[in-house]
Amino acid sequence: MIITVAGYKGGVGKTSTALHLACYFQTHGSTLLIDGDPNRSATGWSKRGQLPFKVADERQAAKLARDYDHIIIDTQARPELEDLAALVEGCDLLVIPSTPDALALDALMQTVDALHKFKAEQYKVLLTIVPPKPSRDGEAARAELLGMELPLFQTSIRRLSAFQKAALTGVPVYEVKDKKASDAWSDYQAVGKEIVG
Ligand code: ADP
Repeated sequence: MIITVAGYKGGVGKTSTALHLACYFQTHGSTLLIDGDPNRSATGWSKRGQLPFKVADERQAAKLARDYDHIIIDTQARPELEDLAALVEGCDLLVIPSTPDALALDALMQTVDALHKFKAEQYKVLLTIVPPKPSRDGEAARAELLGMELPLFQTSIRRLSAFQKAALTGVPVYEVKDKKASDAWSDYQAVGKEIVG
């Protein structure tokens, strides 16, 4: 499978999503994470510590890709509209992470409008960094998106500091010493299961 993770806004958990989906897919077959984000966040993550899959620069990707069962692509934030069309055509599923706040949802709508213009169907929105109760942001965003009949993962990714620790130490979240680390990983495992069925 080729899965691309894209977003119209930075800081929505795009790289964290690409990286943990790669962890999940690695348990199903050899997986390559292509770092197409000019910030090279995924490459930095892999250099700080250790990840259970290969991370490659997009310039090395063409040669490497044929050796892997699954490819996850982390892309540049804020793609141009024509980039978005190319991204969606170049993968089996485009995952669009969004935090549940008004600004991010607004940016998400612009992306989705563009996707509708290209008649793209193979995309799914993932709510990320969802704050715990008593905040109702996650539920409100879910209701709003479902009301618009957008394809949305049933799973939301909770806001957990284990994810920041994982990025800092350069490991997947399940390797972090944090009492919520397994909760954090179970969120991405559930997303992975939604994708592979
Ligand atoms: P993007 O690629 O969209 O800029 P990142 O994955 O780099 O997003 O995440 C942005 C920041 O938010 C990072 O500091 C990251 O550790 C943190 N983060 C990502 N996902 C979560 C989460 N579910 N809970 C808490 N913090 C998160």
